[in-house]
Amino acid sequence: MRRVAVIGAGYAGVAAAVALTRAGEAVTLLDASRTVGGRARRVTYRGVTLDNGQHLLLGAYRETLALMRAVNAPVSGLARRQLDLHYPGLLRLSAPRLPAPLHLLAALMTANGLSARERLAAARFAVTLRAAEAAATPGETVNALLDRLRQPLRLRHLLWEPLCVAALNTPPSFADARVFARVMRDSLLGSRQDSDFLLPTADLSALLPEPAVAWLGEHGATIALGQRITGLRARGQRWEVVAGSAGCADFDAVVCATAAAECAAIVGTVAPLAPLAERLASIPHEPITTVYLQYPVPVRLPAPLVAIEGGFAQWLFDRQAIAGASGLVAAVVSASQALGEDAHDIAATLAHRDVARLVSPLPPPSWTKVIREKRATFACVPGVFRPAPRTDAPGVVLAGDYTEGPYPATIEGAVRSGQRAARILLGQEAAGP
Ligand SMILES: Cc1cc2nc3c(=O)[nH]c(=O)nc-3n(C[C@H](O)[C@H](O)[C@H](O)COP(=O)(O)OP(=O)(O)OC[C@H]3O[C@@H](n4cnc5c(N)ncnc54)[C@H](O)[C@@H]3O)c2cc1C
Repeated sequence: MRRVAVIGAGYAGVAAAVALTRAGEAVTLLDASRTVGGRARRVTYRGVTLDNGQHLLLGAYRETLALMRAVNAPVSGLARRQLDLHYPGLLRLSAPRLPAPLHLLAALMTANGLSARERLAAARFAVTLRAAEAAATPGETVNALLDRLRQPLRLRHLLWEPLCVAALNTPPSFADARVFARVMRDSLLGSRQDSDFLLPTADLSALLPEPAVAWLGEHGATIALGQRITGLRARGQRWEVVAGSAGCADFDAVVCATAAAECAAIVGTVAPLAPLAERLASIPHEPITTVYLQYPVPVRLPAPLVAIEGGFAQWLFDRQAIAGASGLVAAVVSASQALGEDAHDIAATLAHRDVARLVSPLPPPSWTKVIREKRATFACVPGVFRPAPRTDAPGVVLAGDYTEGPYPATIEGAVRSGQRAARILLGQEAAGP
């Protein structure tokens, strides 16, 4: 039994810790925060449970769902709904219960609000995506791909561009077409259930990280919350994990499962990893802003998840329909670079205006909470540095949504990266070429 430190109890860290514990390793899971979940965690405001940002999971998140089952997380924590894109008054695209990819083709063919030409163009695009790697060329942006495949402007504006920003959190003029094609292929053209929306009804800490931590505790792992790790020190073949001025026991191996910038600070203390740390610190990021609006009256949007055309937010989530939180709406602005850091009042006013376009009469909200996650995800642009999990320091492995992988920064990507880090330490994955 080896002693393994997992630094970071976000979705990647808990996935790594569970996999290592299951394999019989002695795991210590450390996190700077006392609330687990990292960039997908619970936030409490005025006694109401919110999240640091409204999330949407997909049926294609197989590893996340399997991990939830393995640690006895409540399955009721996610409400499953069939793919349903709803722009009130403009477009409604719902997938019928047909096997994939017929469900998507039928959804496109029966969509309300698309012309015959737009439907055919969309279907052609979807068929091209089946060979995702071939659909996009290396270095191509999503806009260039849409140009090349001659997608009509209105279709791009209503369908592909919002899906790109939602999935990659990067504007289509910069976003990596290959990653976009892969996400679209795997979520829209996999099995029918893959395209389902999974709407969190539990908060994001309770959804998986907390049940995982409870499971780890029951299976002999050590949990150390409120421990900010500042570096690693080599002790022969072992690693000392440093917390402030104090060392914190020796470990045979370390999984660094923090976000990229924090990982740079930690691994940068190990001389052979200094060049890696420099590259990690330079990974570009994109913000996401969520505006929670609490109304004094019950508010029902036309659907639990509504797309907004030409508004401030791209999506509105009806928290009352999703989780029974009366009068609570979450407005999401992905890739929210343009919004100033302190422009909270403006953000709240504009998000309220978006809700008021759909619900009338609507009183002003009794309170609003604006959460701007400055480094929500890495910018998913062609050529962005995504490090391999294996490092030049024996026994030090990276995990996190930003590490090498086919998908953008997502919960599923984070879970898979944690599981991959565990496989590497367990010798179950051969070293790369
Ligand atoms: C607002 C927002 C909306 C999003 N929406 C979606 C969505 O709809 N769907 C989706 O799939 N994904 C979404 N994402 C992305 C998703 O949340 C992330 O990809 C995922 O949570 C990353 O997990 P991680 O474990 O890789 O990293 P993190 O969640 O960043 O976990 C890292 C952990 O390390 C800890 N840590 C950091 N430094 C130290 C240190 N020095 N010592 C000890 N511990 C440390 C942190 O406290 C944290 O718990 C969204 C992200 C944000 C911010």
